Amino acid sequence: MRAQPTASHFIDGEYVEDDAGTVIESLYPATGEVIARLYAATPAIVEKAIAAAKRAQPEWAAMSPTARGRILKRAADIMRERNRELSELETLDTGKPIQETIVADPTSGADSFEFFGGVIAAGLNGSYIPLGGDFAYTKRVPLGVCVGIGAWNYPQQIACWKAAPALAAGNAMVFKPSENTPLGALKIAEILIEAGLPKGLFNVIQGDRDTGPLLVNHPDVAKVSLTGSVPTGRKVAAAAAGNLKHVTMELGGKSPLIVFNDTDIDSAVGGAMLGNFYSTGQVCSNGTRVFVQKDIKIEFLKRLKARTEAMAIGDPMNEATQIGPMVSWAQREKVLEYIEKGKAEGATLVVGGGIPNNVSGEGYYVQPTVFADVTDEMTIAREEIFGPVMCVLDFEDEAEVIARGNATEFGLAAGVFTSDMSRAHRVVDLLEAGTLWINTYNLCPVEIPFGGSKQSGFGRENSIAALEHYSELKTVYVGMGPVQAPY
Ligand code: NAD
Repeated sequence: MRAQPTASHFIDGEYVEDDAGTVIESLYPATGEVIARLYAATPAIVEKAIAAAKRAQPEWAAMSPTARGRILKRAADIMRERNRELSELETLDTGKPIQETIVADPTSGADSFEFFGGVIAAGLNGSYIPLGGDFAYTKRVPLGVCVGIGAWNYPQQIACWKAAPALAAGNAMVFKPSENTPLGALKIAEILIEAGLPKGLFNVIQGDRDTGPLLVNHPDVAKVSLTGSVPTGRKVAAAAAGNLKHVTMELGGKSPLIVFNDTDIDSAVGGAMLGNFYSTGQVCSNGTRVFVQKDIKIEFLKRLKARTEAMAIGDPMNEATQIGPMVSWAQREKVLEYIEKGKAEGATLVVGGGIPNNVSGEGYYVQPTVFADVTDEMTIAREEIFGPVMCVLDFEDEAEVIARGNATEFGLAAGVFTSDMSRAHRVVDLLEAGTLWINTYNLCPVEIPFGGSKQSGFGRENSIAALEHYSELKTVYVGMGPVQAPY
């Protein structure tokens, strides 16, 4: 098996196996080939990982921020040196084209280690509060043992986006990747050890929806950060509330991308394609409801159709490939069902709509698909598909499109394409979302906060804001004179 790791779990600085766990087969989405066989964590493995994290954390938190930051920066350097190897592994794990993974996955993880290593070295300082004689000060302290639970669309990036701020702030982490993509996080754990991270601070255990609750319910865990779907988010937040753990929820979306008639149409088409077809549509913040102002609809669809038809679908290891398979057979089936619903409910199929004929029948491929004349009530306009299916809806005016854009339980992201900057800012002000773009889409550099509102979650990843979600404030009041007691 060409991607078999040394063992399933990485705990306390080394690979650990326990073959009493349920078997997890890792399948290469382009061919269905079994590339690794792992075991889900047993309760004993979960205990071992949490115990290692608990033991290692206080010493790490006591190190100087510069020393912690230096290790994270070294991890970033190693990830960049091994970008090709890590990107190939990410492609095997997810089926995403190497053309993407080589620029977007390990590199984004490395950015995260570099950024948080630098920020923590620069200081996550508290404040001094004069009180006229007495005074107080505050400091930010780590939470302790944090749990990260990942989705399958960006396995390495998700592991790093959670590990980097958690470790920078002085916490330890136990990370559970998605059962669909178990491989990348193990490499991140190896690299952190090589960079000098003390043992026990970043542990990876495998498992599925039965394993996650063992972590979330554990009394020694102070925080849970989940990237996943809304239904999973509800379960995890409810379980974490049982003993008032901190939570960050990065959940799903059905984001509006609004194209006004004064925009550069080619840019808007490019933005809509990036915001629907990148990673074969498996991106939480995708702008899957593309609202196009009526008078440019025909021209927009004409250019969109031509560019979508020209996309290169095929072998993800081929540098020219732009669209790879879905992550799993189950996800492919789900997406194909949505496409059938779109047809049945009366949307106009512009391009795609099925399985491409130039690829292996064993792979989990779906054609990039565009529906036009989609209405707000259609299933494909309401539910998160998580595949390469773009819905184009028409609108007449600004007030109407804002109301329709907001008419969803989700609130992850939104985008506006227009050359009128007053309108752009007016519209984003009124859109209910956590992350918004003007005249671009889906760019998430580590410097900016990323996260959702409404049912898309709470808490933020990336930026200094993430450090606040992996630490808490301690306030110290200092009395400088005798205590004035009235009794
Ligand atoms: P999922 O919700 O099925 O699973 C996510 C993770 O949660 C997996 O590791 C899974 O094993 C675990 N899990 C499932 N049930 C659990 C439970 N009861 N307790 C603890 N852990 C549990 O999601 P998925 O199918 O892996 O990923 C796709 C979803 O993730 C989409 O909805 C997508 O929008 C969302 N997503 C969001 C972001 C974001 O940053 N907002 C990023 C990527 C993906």
